[in-house]
Amino acid sequence: MKHVPPPARSAIVIGSGFGGLALAIRLQAAGIQTVLLEKRDKPGGRAYVYEDQGFVFDAGPTVITDPSALEELYEAAGRKLSDYVTLLPVSPFYRLCWEDGYAFDYANDQGELDRQIGAKSPEDVEGYRRFLAYSRAVFEEGYLKLGTVPFLQFRDMVRAGPQLAKLQAWRSVYAKVSEFIKDDQLRQAFSFHSLLVGGNPFATSSIYALIHALEREWGVWFPKGGTGALIQGMVKLFTDIGGRIELNAEVSRIEVDGRRATGVVLHDGRTFDADIVASNADVVHTYDKLLRGTTRGAAQAAKLKRKRFSMSLFVLYFGLKRHQTQLQHHTVLFGARYRALIDEIFKGKELAGDFSLYLHSPCATDPSLAPPGMGSYYVLSPVPHLGNAPIDWSVEGPRYADRILDYLEARYMPGLRADLVTQRIFTPNDFVSELNAHHGSAFSLDPVLTQSAWFRAHNRDDWIPNLYFVGAGTHPGAGVPGVVGSAKATAGLILGHEPA
Ligand SMILES: Cc1cc2nc3c(=O)[nH]c(=O)nc-3n(C[C@H](O)[C@H](O)[C@H](O)COP(=O)(O)OP(=O)(O)OC[C@H]3O[C@@H](n4cnc5c(N)ncnc54)[C@H](O)[C@@H]3O)c2cc1C
Repeated sequence: MKHVPPPARSAIVIGSGFGGLALAIRLQAAGIQTVLLEKRDKPGGRAYVYEDQGFVFDAGPTVITDPSALEELYEAAGRKLSDYVTLLPVSPFYRLCWEDGYAFDYANDQGELDRQIGAKSPEDVEGYRRFLAYSRAVFEEGYLKLGTVPFLQFRDMVRAGPQLAKLQAWRSVYAKVSEFIKDDQLRQAFSFHSLLVGGNPFATSSIYALIHALEREWGVWFPKGGTGALIQGMVKLFTDIGGRIELNAEVSRIEVDGRRATGVVLHDGRTFDADIVASNADVVHTYDKLLRGTTRGAAQAAKLKRKRFSMSLFVLYFGLKRHQTQLQHHTVLFGARYRALIDEIFKGKELAGDFSLYLHSPCATDPSLAPPGMGSYYVLSPVPHLGNAPIDWSVEGPRYADRILDYLEARYMPGLRADLVTQRIFTPNDFVSELNAHHGSAFSLDPVLTQSAWFRAHNRDDWIPNLYFVGAGTHPGAGVPGVVGSAKATAGLILGHEPA
């Protein structure tokens, strides 16, 4: 007779990123006494918050999409999202700017989109509509049907095969966009999205074209008080329903007895026992370091290290004594090169001489994130991860920051230097030291088709059945909707909603 373990009564979740928090909430809400252990002094992981002289800087995610996934999470705990945090709409979603002075406001208004596309390239108005229809079909199949399903068996992948084939999932995002849209800059405008979740538009499956439909469907939002307020809301929800969170609690080892995880040991020597252990920490870190000395840990770490990892990021946070009101909330600043630059970011051995940037100006939506009249900003530049380009960021970081500030001042933010009150940087080195990220990758495993779904780290370990995973390294992947979806998939496995 098959042994059925008793229902879990206690759980440990390692790491308080969006994925870890969402899983901890679901488990606690289901009556499993859950302890969330976070290495850093604040929760949120990549969604950490820096505060300096009255400026508030969200460290990571700023484009909040699919609020319905968050609403559903709160409902699972018998609460309402709107009682914890207010989401403000962002419009336009993004302003896209090129060095030749062309700008495109990507808004959720068909008439406005048609007008702008028509002015740039009349034949692409019809092409865009066909692209949107394609994007909606992928959204239906790839996100609504498969986004929260755990891929534990290869047969799960085979089952999804016909749909993936029909949608030509083997083609890249850029190839698919180019099939519908002819203008070069509009091709960039509708293909850059996969970069937001760490995917190279020239290599990532066209499934990622679904992000466009997802944004059109539910909009782009920003929490009042910043993304940090969303994290605080989730922490409050978790503790309101009886969960316990420990900060400054870095796990050193997961204890394993045969094929069972029995608990964890922290760096400071404290121990925690539980019926199940779930890791939201980097997947390589978990197998390599937290399961060190076990055959399973060594085998899985070796396997994962052979995979391709997504790019890293260089992030510069800065506060200005005058808010630059000409900026939209989200701006993408395309450099002179698109494909060649992206190639260098994903495969290059050194830092490119040029860059494409994302500029965050949250005070456009919520002025409370800076002292009155002032502005908080961050600018990020995708850069190669340390496994490809072992750059000495302690030397290169300040230089790179200067180059970016000069570029912004010359082209988009006049008077920036004179108004600078504060600045700080976060480099690939910090992804390693602060977040235990393998190679300093900002988005974990590169989301190419051969590393997606079943090919990603499984939401439950194949050998240790009470060890679970959640977050960017698992299915469906990085991005806030992705990791909140992975928490639903993992919780489904733990709570027995999914077949064993
Ligand atoms: C700069 C930046 C901008 C981004 N912008 C967007 C955006 O606009 N929209 C979007 O949807 N996505 C965005 N993303 C992606 C998104 O932020 C991530 O994919 C997502 O937040 C990752 O969540 P996660 O659950 O995987 O956990 P993470 O955020 O990776 O958190 C993991 C946690 O585990 C902790 N940890 C690690 N090791 C241990 C240990 N041994 N013991 C205890 N704790 C440990 C870490 O400290 C961390 O808190 C962005 C990412 C970055 C870096």
